[in-house]
Amino acid sequence: MAVQDAQLRVLIAGAGIAGLATAIALTRISGISNLDIQLYEQAPELLEIGASIALSPNGMRTLEKLGVDNALSDEIGFRGPSDIPHIFRHWKSNQVVSVDTHINVPDRRHQTTRFHRGHLHAALLKHVPREAIHLGKRVSHAEATEDRVSLHFIDGTSTYGDVLIGADGIKSKVRQAYFPNYRLRFGGKIFMRATFDANLVEGKVPNLPADSTHWWGPKDNFFASKLGKGQYTTVGAYEDGRSLEELEKSISWDQPGDVQFLKEKYKNWNPVVKALSELTPYSRLYPNYVGDPLPTWVLASRVTLIGDAAHAHGGAFAAGGSLALDDSLALALGFKHTFASPESNIPFSASNIRRSLSLYDRTRRQHTEELLSIVHHQLNNQTPLSIAPEVGETVLISRLKNRPNTEWMTEHDVEKAFAIVAASQEFAVDASQANRTNGRKKVGGRNDSIGLREKL
Ligand SMILES: Cc1cc2nc3c(=O)[nH]c(=O)nc-3n(C[C@H](O)[C@H](O)[C@H](O)COP(=O)(O)OP(=O)(O)OC[C@H]3O[C@@H](n4cnc5c(N)ncnc54)[C@H](O)[C@@H]3O)c2cc1C
Repeated sequence: MAVQDAQLRVLIAGAGIAGLATAIALTRISGISNLDIQLYEQAPELLEIGASIALSPNGMRTLEKLGVDNALSDEIGFRGPSDIPHIFRHWKSNQVVSVDTHINVPDRRHQTTRFHRGHLHAALLKHVPREAIHLGKRVSHAEATEDRVSLHFIDGTSTYGDVLIGADGIKSKVRQAYFPNYRLRFGGKIFMRATFDANLVEGKVPNLPADSTHWWGPKDNFFASKLGKGQYTTVGAYEDGRSLEELEKSISWDQPGDVQFLKEKYKNWNPVVKALSELTPYSRLYPNYVGDPLPTWVLASRVTLIGDAAHAHGGAFAAGGSLALDDSLALALGFKHTFASPESNIPFSASNIRRSLSLYDRTRRQHTEELLSIVHHQLNNQTPLSIAPEVGETVLISRLKNRPNTEWMTEHDVEKAFAIVAASQEFAVDASQANRTNGRKKVGGRNDSIGLREKL
């Protein structure tokens, strides 16, 4: 543990999965003894919306590294009996067309796990002091100077600190302060989600798969899975051709949907999906938004973004929760690398904070950009709706069989990635010092480090 006389006051906007995980990671991993972490959440109560969330092995391993062991238990999350994380069936025939398997996940607790979001959130909350979370604090804007950061709230109050982390989700106000022209794009689909007691469907739907299952149709998909604590989830989707502006006027996030519409939509699908949609008791609506990658996550030396605020990829590949957890660990490692050295009292200066944020940025931004590029490619190459049925079937089977490989993301080792970045930074520093000593031309810093990173 690095002993500092001064205190580092960290403000976190948003107490969702990214915000809570960041508070835990900084406290447990950064090695900084004198930390004051405060979270500001717009919601008046800490209730997560009633939807499911899947964490892949990278996210599960990171939960363990953060000491959130309680989230690894079979009671909270559901892991299917087959150990196959993603099973894809045909919408009409109900035949399995393709699967994703775990590649290197020997510990069953690290396998892809499905939670009710409220249960995962509650598991994280157990590790954050309640008095550090300020509810009903909706951020209106954020600012930073060379010396401090500030968060301003719509209730007219403000708070100040040394570091600001925007964990305020896909419509982040912290991001808006630095990228005022950043615009989300509507991905064209609205998801209809529900979570309910598994007894509503188990034993009542003939041939109900015991594993979590995706069914893919020509235009839309359906997903069903058991969750922890005896819960079950169904997720349907429909296309909506409206523009972002029109949509935002008529559909708000998490608004009640029409469950009759869900039943009608899936009435001609195979009997399992038809029965599941008929037994789904309600639906709530979630438009799918995506955004472009950001040019940097190091903002004004003392500010950064994490989770959906940093990479607005929508619900693609059910990756957001795991990415947010890995972000939090990488950020804490960045601080540890800078401040937790045998020399105590490394000052919390703007340049040292910037160095920590830069290590985080370089560990995570490029990685999440790869996902964003897949998401944007898919959006830009959607199959036209007017396609003939026989062609549609061929396109569907091809899409099912040629899904992008996601192992690079779902089994990503963020600690290893961080170590490579940190080593490349040290190499760049050493090289530039050597060059200065030799009186030669300086090497190109970042580009040289990237070169080394590729070699490693
Ligand atoms: C319905 C749904 C289903 C999803 N399914 C999956 C899935 O299966 N697998 C998966 O990995 N990911 C899924 N995701 C995405 C995943 O939940 C997120 O990527 C992940 O939780 C990281 O989110 P976050 O903490 O960055 O943002 P969020 O979860 O959006 O949390 C942001 C927090 O900031 C607060 N906030 C927002 N604006 C302000 C403001 N102005 N001031 C103060 N506080 C503010 C919000 O109230 C919220 O608590 C899903 C998301 C949703 C909503």
